[in-house]
Amino acid sequence: MSIKIKHVSKSFGSFRALSNINLSVQTGELIALLGPSGSGKTSLLRIIAGLEAADEGSILFEDEDITYKNAKERKVGFVFQHYALFRHMTVFENVAYGLKVRPRKVRPTKEEIEEKVNHLLELVKLSAFAKRYPSQLSGGQRQRVALARALAVQPKVLLLDEPFGALDAKVRKELRRWLRRLHDDFHITSIFVTHDQEEALDVADRIVVMNEGRIEQIGSPEEVYENPMSPFVYDFLGNVNIFKGRLHKGKMHIGNFELDAKEYASVSSEEAIGYVRPYQIQIEREIIKDSVPAHIRNIHIIGPLIQLELTREDTGEILEAELTKEYYQSQLFQIGENVYVKPKQLKVYIPEDFSI
Ligand code: ATP
Repeated sequence: MSIKIKHVSKSFGSFRALSNINLSVQTGELIALLGPSGSGKTSLLRIIAGLEAADEGSILFEDEDITYKNAKERKVGFVFQHYALFRHMTVFENVAYGLKVRPRKVRPTKEEIEEKVNHLLELVKLSAFAKRYPSQLSGGQRQRVALARALAVQPKVLLLDEPFGALDAKVRKELRRWLRRLHDDFHITSIFVTHDQEEALDVADRIVVMNEGRIEQIGSPEEVYENPMSPFVYDFLGNVNIFKGRLHKGKMHIGNFELDAKEYASVSSEEAIGYVRPYQIQIEREIIKDSVPAHIRNIHIIGPLIQLELTREDTGEILEAELTKEYYQSQLFQIGENVYVKPKQLKVYIPEDFSI
């Protein structure tokens, strides 16, 4: 089932929560709505679900306008952060519920329901827990039940609102892999809301980055990470170092060095900001061309990655660099050392284009 969202806007009182949202989701895609708190993700998901009405715009499912259809008519499956499982029902009964309450004419037989529920419980590896009640399960297990329950009724669209938000990092990771696998098996068009960049980058086919009720960028995880269209997207998708300077005919001038900014070949600006990810920072003991002197303030060893916190000697700004363990071990940098720092790559933005 494809989904088209056309010119959707929504206000709550005088507050504009969504402004002119346009988005096309292809059949079978897994889409992440990613953005900070208050950016409008949940509002958009609720409008797609039919739980909230848009003030303007329309929603199409497979080219049929369903803007005025209610949630039940849209036949979407939901999974929320706070697993709304029925507490008085066992795991089996929870998953079977949506099938049992179908009108008699379209209700599967008892045997068919049993077969289907058992199959789903197998998929989410909860067969041994079928007779337990939700209170006897861990948070991660409950969310797996919620997923199985949503899938049982074979929805055409699956909507998930921060489905793993309440769980710890390790369980979150495990569950998002589950979601990806189930999504691939069932091939249901799915949209999930998250504020966790890693989660979106890890599982989504495409990411919709939202900010203040608007879509900032839509693209594959690689596109939005490698080619962020705005400073907001760059910043939101990972740690960042900022180098301020001037732009002149395709060159960014920072202090007394210059770096290529090819995308601005014919543009000059007195103010430009270069963004650099920590892993794109080169650190050397000897002076190298186009580098700035810096002082190592701190070293954090996080498994195979080494994070260095540095202070630029010319501006006093803090920089963060990420080194591989191999490089770190070959150099053995020490806290307090003076080094030279060079951005290997810069993504340049002109502040007046983005109101930063
Ligand atoms: P979070 O990650 O915190 O859930 P979100 O990106 O999902 O945030 P929304 O829940 O869509 O954001 O909310 C967007 C904005 O709309 C927020 O500023 C919120 O306060 C406001 N809002 C949402 N629902 C209502 C409502 N029913 N009445 C008034 N304001 C609302």
